[in-house]
Amino acid sequence: MTHPPAGAGSRVVVIGGGHAAAALVGLLRQEGHTGEVVLVGDELDHPYHRPPLSKKFVDGELEQWLRPPEFYGEQKITVRLGEQAVAIDRAARTVALDSGADLSYDVLVLATGARPRPLPVPGADLGGVGALRTLGDARALRKWIEEGRRLLIVGGGYIGLEVAAVARSRGVEAVVLEREERVLARVASPELSAIMSGCHTDRGTVIRTEAAVVALEGADGQVRRAVLDGGDAVDCDAVLVGVGALPRDELATAAGIETGPPGRGGILVDAGARTSDPAVLAIGDVTCRPIPGVEGPARLESIPSATEQAKQATATILGKPLPAAETPWFWSDQFDLKLKIAGIVAPGTQTVLRGDPASGRFALFHLVDGRPVAVESANASPEFMAGKKWIGAGTRVDPEVLRDADAALRGAAL
Ligand SMILES: Cc1cc2nc3c(=O)[nH]c(=O)nc-3n(C[C@H](O)[C@H](O)[C@H](O)COP(=O)(O)OP(=O)(O)OC[C@H]3O[C@@H](n4cnc5c(N)ncnc54)[C@H](O)[C@@H]3O)c2cc1C
Repeated sequence: MTHPPAGAGSRVVVIGGGHAAAALVGLLRQEGHTGEVVLVGDELDHPYHRPPLSKKFVDGELEQWLRPPEFYGEQKITVRLGEQAVAIDRAARTVALDSGADLSYDVLVLATGARPRPLPVPGADLGGVGALRTLGDARALRKWIEEGRRLLIVGGGYIGLEVAAVARSRGVEAVVLEREERVLARVASPELSAIMSGCHTDRGTVIRTEAAVVALEGADGQVRRAVLDGGDAVDCDAVLVGVGALPRDELATAAGIETGPPGRGGILVDAGARTSDPAVLAIGDVTCRPIPGVEGPARLESIPSATEQAKQATATILGKPLPAAETPWFWSDQFDLKLKIAGIVAPGTQTVLRGDPASGRFALFHLVDGRPVAVESANASPEFMAGKKWIGAGTRVDPEVLRDADAALRGAAL
């Protein structure tokens, strides 16, 4: 199918009120789009930053809006909050909302994000069990931490570990249960997993790996313990489920728009955020997208990816040249470690450590044939920046120079 540009005067309807949607509507106006722009979000809050929810917000700091609420009015962007898109009629180019409204579009942008993967065990609906995706979730979690409840975190991914760090910083008991043999198994190298695991246990978090929860049990409707597959049980007063997220691609699926392979899902898009329907674009966590250095489309759940795709969609809508592909990256804050990770960590790479993890400042470079394909850094912005640049450019490096923290970083590039 061809994808003609929709033009600066087109009517654009954006479904989703998260990071990708807010970035897109701002960029459209900034880049000269003059037509009608409507943003539909099923949450009641204006678009807000999600990353602080597992970091600063649960630690008591105030929430932050992505843009001041008055921005949208000033930019003549219609915002419909608390309304959910329920069906797309591709032939009529309309989208139906649960309020009964039907919105017509020239371009429809699906930015519906992801939802927490549920924990499929008995007792997951008990009081005191929750996930973390929205401001509402974060308010509940903050209350549990303020009440000093013993927190059990199911899933040792980034969100689970970030919450564990906040809990321990406030003196709250935290136990992390991870089904795999190491924390961050899906997203980090074994070396970083080991460093982060040590960092958490040193501060009093109990981490149990190869520990699968088979049931949650409670009293008076409130969770009180988790039962593991070996029969062990862990007592707790609250459970945070952090076992990943699933793309909210059901609107697209129902409308016959192509999605990724079963098990991965996500709306299939190209480097211009275009779906299999020329009038429908998709951006953010809901997509299955091309990624530089990765074979076949894959899913990325990160702010930089959502922002990049908002730029791609803007270019597509306005008929401008597509932006150059970016090296994927994201960040995570745990205790005093500011982690920044670029590229995709894959097995079978040569790993070079620069700096001393005990000092809190280090970087792990992962090389294939002498070229970095990923860098995992902690409190080491120059290493992160250099690594990200080298990954994008396919630069060869000298592992010996890289390993020597006293040698100038730029001297490592060949
Ligand atoms: C706790 C937490 C911490 C994170 N920390 C980091 C981090 O440190 N660094 C990083 O890079 N990334 C982080 N992320 C990931 C990042 O927040 C996401 O990648 C980003 O929010 C994706 O933006 P999005 O707009 O695609 O989706 P979302 O932000 O999820 O927004 C989608 C919105 O669409 C709404 N919606 C869905 N379906 C409909 C419908 N049918 N009708 C109307 N509205 C609908 C949803 O309710 C939601 O408001 C974190 C995520 C979480 C949850």
